Amino acid sequence: MNRSSSLKQKVYGAAMAALLTVGLISESEAITMQEATLENGMRVIIVPDHRSPVVLHSVWFQAGSVDEAEGVTGIAHMLEHMMFKSTKNRTNEEREKLIQRNGAQENAFTSRDYTAYYQKVAKDRLGLMMDQEADRMVNLALTDEVFQPERKVVLEERQLRTESNPVNRFYEKLVSKHFGKHPYEHPVIGWREDIEGYKLQDNLDWYNTHYAPNNATMILVGDITLDEALPMVKKHYGDLKPAETPKRKLPEQPLREEEVRFVEVDKDVQVPLFVQFYRAPSAQAKVAGIHGDTADAPALEVLADILGGGQTSRLYKALVTEQKIADSASSGYDETGAGESSIDVYAQPKPDVTLDRIEKAVDDVIAELLKKGVTEDEVSRSIMALKSSHVYGQDDLFNTVYRLGLWLMAGGDTKGYNAYIGKVESVTKGDVLRVAKKYFVKQHRTTGLLVAEESQLK
Ligand SMILES: [Zn+2]
Repeated sequence: MNRSSSLKQKVYGAAMAALLTVGLISESEAITMQEATLENGMRVIIVPDHRSPVVLHSVWFQAGSVDEAEGVTGIAHMLEHMMFKSTKNRTNEEREKLIQRNGAQENAFTSRDYTAYYQKVAKDRLGLMMDQEADRMVNLALTDEVFQPERKVVLEERQLRTESNPVNRFYEKLVSKHFGKHPYEHPVIGWREDIEGYKLQDNLDWYNTHYAPNNATMILVGDITLDEALPMVKKHYGDLKPAETPKRKLPEQPLREEEVRFVEVDKDVQVPLFVQFYRAPSAQAKVAGIHGDTADAPALEVLADILGGGQTSRLYKALVTEQKIADSASSGYDETGAGESSIDVYAQPKPDVTLDRIEKAVDDVIAELLKKGVTEDEVSRSIMALKSSHVYGQDDLFNTVYRLGLWLMAGGDTKGYNAYIGKVESVTKGDVLRVAKKYFVKQHRTTGLLVAEESQLK
């Protein structure tokens, strides 16, 4: 339960994408979606998939760490914990029994752009899942007696996940420096001093402001159609009252004239780490002042894959295979985000190789790409790999919900979601070089170096 975005996913995401091979591509790239909006503003999206009599019921709130105010960072995640407490109508033990007795699997997660809850359940039990989800959307019985112990649980979670892990400690600081005044600056779990200072009222305010049908999107994937689902949805969610939820407004993060560099010497580090972020738009958000264009997202995805997606990528070949100076080298790019994205580069040196040498090698690979561009072959191989990873996800109910939910919570729509993969397919080598030139700009980048001792730097 309670998975926030983890560094591990971020670091190894590109490598994992490369494991999905070309053979997995299916015929249907676009997924069929049916949509409706209830009178109270709740959005309902159905993705019919009749391969087994199971439905994944998920409810997404456009309320993530990006919406938090200074001083109460992490409150979105804190409320996710509280959603597993009693409501005015049933205790959480009763709720959990309901989940278990009906053979449902449930989970919840909070990230920068959203908080989401889901249950995977046999089709004939779907109404029961809706009943408990609608109940806790508005009827949580939050008291200080339940809140304070859970606040300590969250502090322990932070201790375990971030503070006792040198790589995560470093990454949290690096991200903070990279984003500066943008709300992506703070970690999803929140700063320690903020968690220590939460009051019950902070949690109530968050709940009352963001947990309402007009700020919720239901995504149902599985053995169901809109005609079947809508009466059920109306019955359970139709009477919930909308709230005055402010429209999400993100401040623009200005471009910097100088590269941000952050060096951390931490004796707990086992393998040094080289990280670089090049600012880039997402498919939903621009980079201020860089004539950044959300339409560049597909080409950026191909670029990041050619540069560092797997063992045939340029970074891997140069640093790991040929020069033998690194154990890993990769890059990745996330196309979905309410705020700007980045092309991220990661490398871990072999023992006795300094990060200075790694940095020069990475710079050389990028310089070569900027000078000579990429080949047709690289572009078509990357498109195949990306297509398979986008399409492969549709074989799994959770992956379908997850990708679609991320896209919608970042501000995208269903039409754009379905059109996106086609746009990736039509990326040309000219597009890749054009976006490389636009976004691989040294003075806009952030470089992070993590070592156990100074001698590993130069
Ligand atoms: Zn948690």
